[in-house]
Amino acid sequence: MRTIQSKITLTYIFFSLAVVTLLGVLLSFEIERYFYDRLLSNLQTETDVIHSLLKEASVKKEAKEHTVANLSAISAAAHMRITLIDSTGKVIYESSLADSLLPTLENHLQRPEVVQARREKIGSNARLSKSIAHNLIYVARFVEPALFRNSSFPLLNYVRVAVELSELDQAIDEIRLKIIGAVLAVLATIIATSYIVSKRISRPLVEIGEIINDIKGGNLDRKLPVRSKDEIGRVAELINELTDKLKSDIEQLKKLERVRSEFLGNVSHELRTPIFSLKGFLETLLDGAINDQAVNRKFVEKAYNHASRLDILLSDLIEISRIESGEMKMSFRYFEAVAFLRQLAEDYTEAALRKHQQFILHLPEVEITVFGDKERLRQAIGNIIDNAIKYSQPEATIAVTLKVQDDLATISISDDGPGIEPEHLPRIFERFYRVDKPRSREVGGTGLGLAIVKHIIEAHGSKVAVHSEINKGTTFSFSLKR
Ligand code: ADP
Repeated sequence: MRTIQSKITLTYIFFSLAVVTLLGVLLSFEIERYFYDRLLSNLQTETDVIHSLLKEASVKKEAKEHTVANLSAISAAAHMRITLIDSTGKVIYESSLADSLLPTLENHLQRPEVVQARREKIGSNARLSKSIAHNLIYVARFVEPALFRNSSFPLLNYVRVAVELSELDQAIDEIRLKIIGAVLAVLATIIATSYIVSKRISRPLVEIGEIINDIKGGNLDRKLPVRSKDEIGRVAELINELTDKLKSDIEQLKKLERVRSEFLGNVSHELRTPIFSLKGFLETLLDGAINDQAVNRKFVEKAYNHASRLDILLSDLIEISRIESGEMKMSFRYFEAVAFLRQLAEDYTEAALRKHQQFILHLPEVEITVFGDKERLRQAIGNIIDNAIKYSQPEATIAVTLKVQDDLATISISDDGPGIEPEHLPRIFERFYRVDKPRSREVGGTGLGLAIVKHIIEAHGSKVAVHSEINKGTTFSFSLKR
């Protein structure tokens, strides 16, 4: 697999190599041309100098030895060959050769620099010298022979100078070497930088890949380091947030699962008791008790009571599971609360009277409108009143109160019953929690009544408060918007 890192690095290397090489080649050619041009113009100057020197010698009618000595001095000082050529192409002086050897030289009339000088006054050419087997650059200048009539070289027509190119080549080679060195250094820097940069980019991506792999494998504990504030840092941050969210979601799911299985355990336990009793009574009857006039009716009644308990339990269970699954939709409306509470108390009057208990209503004289789901509230307040009747002793008093303050209406239901011990208070709203199990069973409780109350009141955006004192009584209250 080609990694992002190698892709970035290779692209960088490829482009920088191309750019740097191109620059290097251009630079070295430019430098070479510059030096060559400078050398040419120096050599032209030298021909000027020699030209003047010979003109002066002609004017002064200088002796040949003297002129030749001057020429050899210039030649030696400037590491330069000086050649004087006449109009026929014959070499009449050559600084690197003894005069006696001059006749052995070829005719110079067709040498490129001489040909060019004839046409353009000045000519140049670089080539391998046949006489000394070195690369030389030649510059020739056309001169008027008439000016030198009185000199030692009366037929002089061309002054030519030449230097070895090797020195220039050496200098250029040195510069080229430096350029190559610089190119390599730049390349090395670019390679190192691109390696570091690409690693910086690819490392977090590799880590992100690893973490996603971990998540796939169910491990959500690893955190990505957030090293920068850029896009990659943001992605790392988001992935950390995502794993946090997933983790808490999974924890939530696990908790729900625990609650669900606990609930299921409780439910089967709750169902088993009445079914077991029901079966027991029916079996006893089948075993012969059905013919025993003294007990048969009592046993049938007991079986009936357990069946009723099962019925109530199932209704409550269905109710609470509908509420908890969110299946039960609330329908909120404004309704009048005073008449509503009066009616509710009346509905329970018969049950209260059976225990010689009485209701007291503390309701305002005027109509009070509250906001809520009337039917659900009837169920919730009904459960609280039902408990008050069930758990309070005969002849107890149950008070239903409605108080208004600002934009809230507070409903409370109090009894002067046995009260609830403080240690139980925080738990009575839990499903199946009962302070006194046998007592609850005896009065037909399912342990779900207050759990349903809590759900309904919380769905109204409110909370149920409970105050209780042993042997003094219990008060449940909550507020509604009005
Ligand atoms: P249950 O079906 O057992 O009544 P609830 O959820 O309605 O279940 O109530 C939980 C427990 O709270 C009851 O078992 C009872 O012990 C206690 N309780 C509720 N209301 C009162 C009350 N008015 N006085 C005393 N105890 C109460």
